Amino acid sequence: MAHTTISHSARRTKIMSSKKTKTTQSVENKKDLPAKVFYETVHQAPIAISITDSQANILYANPACEQVSGYSAEELVGYNESMLSDKNTPSALYRQLWETLQQKQAWNGVLLNRRKDGSSYLADLTVAPLVDATGKTEFYLGIHRDVSEMHELESQLSNQKAFIESVVDAVPVAIALLDLNGKELLTNKAYKRLSDEIEHPAQRLLLGISDFDLQKPRNFNNLEIHYDIGKGYEPRWFSCSGIQVNEQEISVNNYFTANEQPRLLFVAHEITSVKRQQEQARMQAVRALMAEQQMVQGIREAISGSMFQLRGLLNVAVAALQTLQRRGENSSMRGVLQQIEQSGTQALETLRFALPREPAEPSCLVNLNQVVRNVLEISTDRLLSQGVTVDWQPEPVLPSLQGREQQLHCVIKQLIDNALCALEEPNIRKREIQIRSFIDGHLVGLEMSDSGHGVPEHLQLRVFEPFFTAWKRKGRHAGMGLAVAREIIAQHLGDIEIDRRFHEGCRIRVLLPISSQTL
Ligand code: FAD
Repeated sequence: MAHTTISHSARRTKIMSSKKTKTTQSVENKKDLPAKVFYETVHQAPIAISITDSQANILYANPACEQVSGYSAEELVGYNESMLSDKNTPSALYRQLWETLQQKQAWNGVLLNRRKDGSSYLADLTVAPLVDATGKTEFYLGIHRDVSEMHELESQLSNQKAFIESVVDAVPVAIALLDLNGKELLTNKAYKRLSDEIEHPAQRLLLGISDFDLQKPRNFNNLEIHYDIGKGYEPRWFSCSGIQVNEQEISVNNYFTANEQPRLLFVAHEITSVKRQQEQARMQAVRALMAEQQMVQGIREAISGSMFQLRGLLNVAVAALQTLQRRGENSSMRGVLQQIEQSGTQALETLRFALPREPAEPSCLVNLNQVVRNVLEISTDRLLSQGVTVDWQPEPVLPSLQGREQQLHCVIKQLIDNALCALEEPNIRKREIQIRSFIDGHLVGLEMSDSGHGVPEHLQLRVFEPFFTAWKRKGRHAGMGLAVAREIIAQHLGDIEIDRRFHEGCRIRVLLPISSQTL
């Protein structure tokens, strides 16, 4: 800051060097302002102004100075400015003040002052040397204002910030404030710890919420997100919430027109241990239900197979009967055939009646990774006994789908059983199953590949037909597994097929629509 002078010529230079307006030019062109105007300006200024000699002895103090210090002008004049000093101001600050003034420069800083009544206040002080025409400092101009209140507010704010930060850091949930591009603007300790294990946890976990667009953040509450990276790691669960908050732009350009930026306050609470306990308990039920379902499925297959064969026989009898009727033959054979038709139809009805019904299962949000995990766990013994290795490569965060979990368990179980059968076929050297889940637009997908002989191209559609089986070791296979799997996947508006491009075994691909009800 340049020093201030009291000479008229210097004042004129100052005015001329500033950007001239029509008004200043006209003032300059007419005549100088009377000295009284300057005096009144200082005297009536609503900020404490004092003028001292070169030793800081007060020569003048305006009424605002009287008001802020509690001393009258008469009590101030003749004394050094140090009478205002509260002795708690570090002396280094005064040294700095005087060093600056000696270089004929203005100084600005905050000091602790003491009022007449003994109370202290923070003074934001500017001191400027007033030099004469020879450049010698004749006087000093002191301007100060009480900034105690502002300091208190700032201290309160910083205390609150420290308090909030320590609370936010102490809570055992991961918290992050994200901008619209997913950039982490603020994070707490738990979030930082989580970041050591999962890169950009918020961005990763948000993938588990279907249709969530960070550009248009929405609130969500306690959504369970399943995180599974496979590779021998246990899956983890997080209960996630998001709150849309608006942050005020701090740029001065937004001082008069508030401009707000939407942000997402993301909160993730790890619930793995609770979920693991729940899952273990649930696995018992899943096991029991699957065993029951497999039994029912077996009965259905057996009855359906019998009905299929009976219908074939019946068709032959009906065709023979129609031939006899067309020829007008009225032989005893016709009666026998009629009898066969009647009894056969009746037997078919009885069998249809005996078909066990599919147990009704409510539709819910299902995580395909979880279904695969469950089925792998159920199949562990069989996989181990057959010496089959499983390479499970889940998409770490997979959005849920709307479906019947038990039925989907059956589909995955069927695919694993088929893969195991394929690996039991003669001349199989490598015994490996690869399972991969993925996201494909609005679909979640699963690929299961085995290192068996694969399905010949001409049979790749037929294997989904009921009662079709091409195993060399036929055993007790009725050929209904893939037909039922296709039926279940179709009920879920999905698709199942054999990947024609895969030639190192069989690769089955399942695609299912992501639920739009996650939010
Ligand atoms: P002092 O003995 O006054 O000074 C401490 C140190 O400052 C000295 O050791 C010396 O190095 C340096 N010093 C002091 N006087 C001079 C000098 N004339 N020339 C060179 N170096 C010097 N202080 C406040 O506390 N509150 C105010 O509101 C305030 N307003 C001021 C307004 C003006 C216009 C000026 C010129 C000064 C103001 N001061 C103010 C500073 C004040 O004059 C004292 O320097 C300060 O208060 C320290 O006082 P002290 O008695 O502790 O030490």
